[in-house]
Amino acid sequence: MDDTSTSAPLGFAEAVQTVLRRSGPGSRIVELDIARAAGFAPAEEVFADVDLPPFDRAAMDGFAYRHADLARGPRLRLAGRVAAGETPAPRLAPGECVKIMTGAVVPEDADTVIPVEDTTGYQPRDGFVAFHRPPPRGANIAPRGEDLRAGAAVLRPGALLTAQDIGLLAAVGRRRVRVHDGPRIAFAATGSELREPGDPLPAGCIRNSNAYALWAQVLAARGHAEYLGLLPDEPDALRAALARGLAADILVVSGGISMGELDLVPGALEELGVKIVFRWVRVRPGRPTLFGVREREAAAGPGASARTLVFGLPGNPLSTLFGFDQYVLPAARVFRRHPRPAAPILEGRLDAGVRKKPGNTALIACRSEWAGSGFVLSPLVTHGSADIAGVRGADAIAIIPEEAESPGAGTRVPFRRLHQP
Ligand code: AMP
Ligand code: MG
Repeated sequence: MDDTSTSAPLGFAEAVQTVLRRSGPGSRIVELDIARAAGFAPAEEVFADVDLPPFDRAAMDGFAYRHADLARGPRLRLAGRVAAGETPAPRLAPGECVKIMTGAVVPEDADTVIPVEDTTGYQPRDGFVAFHRPPPRGANIAPRGEDLRAGAAVLRPGALLTAQDIGLLAAVGRRRVRVHDGPRIAFAATGSELREPGDPLPAGCIRNSNAYALWAQVLAARGHAEYLGLLPDEPDALRAALARGLAADILVVSGGISMGELDLVPGALEELGVKIVFRWVRVRPGRPTLFGVREREAAAGPGASARTLVFGLPGNPLSTLFGFDQYVLPAARVFRRHPRPAAPILEGRLDAGVRKKPGNTALIACRSEWAGSGFVLSPLVTHGSADIAGVRGADAIAIIPEEAESPGAGTRVPFRRLHQP
């Protein structure tokens, strides 16, 4: 830690930008069932195998007919019926119409569909249907290929798959699609005072909550979770476990990165070849926050990323939670080729004042609500950055700029949504 560039604290926005600059897209491609592929970046071109719609399709329940046949009056003889999925569609002699259902093939002889509500109805007593308001020729027919032509490219380049893209993939006959895989994210909790949930809790110990919150965040980020376990504040055990974690695309370590005598994580990482990019950020919670990069040897094998991004987040549960959200998520978004890796910054009005220390950006857990003309942010009262119970229900993080005084009720402040994958 003799390099001064790693010890001077960065501003919060600069720290996030630094992470983004060092992040890179992943190169592993996986083939997924389309139902699981939303949120991933496609890794192949997909072309329509049929026209959409594949035939001239009735867009309304009604009657199909030849528009020219109305020349002798708005009244046609009912000659049959065609339902969705039925082929071949019936032929029409001059002066005839057929009942047609939405989605049915329009008979070859017909050129117009009139909605049933604009007629005397489906059960004519004399076998003739009268039209009250005949629409123009061609009405209520979706022509073959109107939406998409067979052979046309289906996916938008550079965008993540949405539910409607998945629907479109199904419409062009695809069950599976190749996508860019999410990052492998290894994570560990450090602290000799920690015990796993389910194990006995001796005096002086607390439960390891961070590893499980991180696990949830990794999965929400479409990452592959690799839990390295609970690590004691003991150099050899730390080094061995963190070495395993460096095989992942991203390594996240909770705890052990501050100034305490037993904060052994930065030293262990450096011994493992991690170049520390920054160690301190002017933000609370999360002033000690470590970001480093371990370049990998060229021989690391197919699909291995060129580097592992390493995040050391302070062990207080809110610091870890926010740190993942603000630094690790953007890196994971870059990895999976998200078109907007930095989560958008919105603006809201605080409905209560909050206290902040000068010289640091303050991250404040809030509940957000749309109030007709803007967002209202209700800051959650916590007893500090260990208070995981105090942030239940938080869905936003207000970001009070470094230079700002403690903002009072009514102040407009920037915020980000919490847990935006
Ligand atoms: P550290 O960053 O290791 O100095 O930890 C700061 C505080 O967070 C200490 O009070 C720890 O006991 C607590 N803490 C550290 N790791 C965890 C964890 N995995 N789960 C819950 N609390 C933790
Ligand atoms: Mg600790």
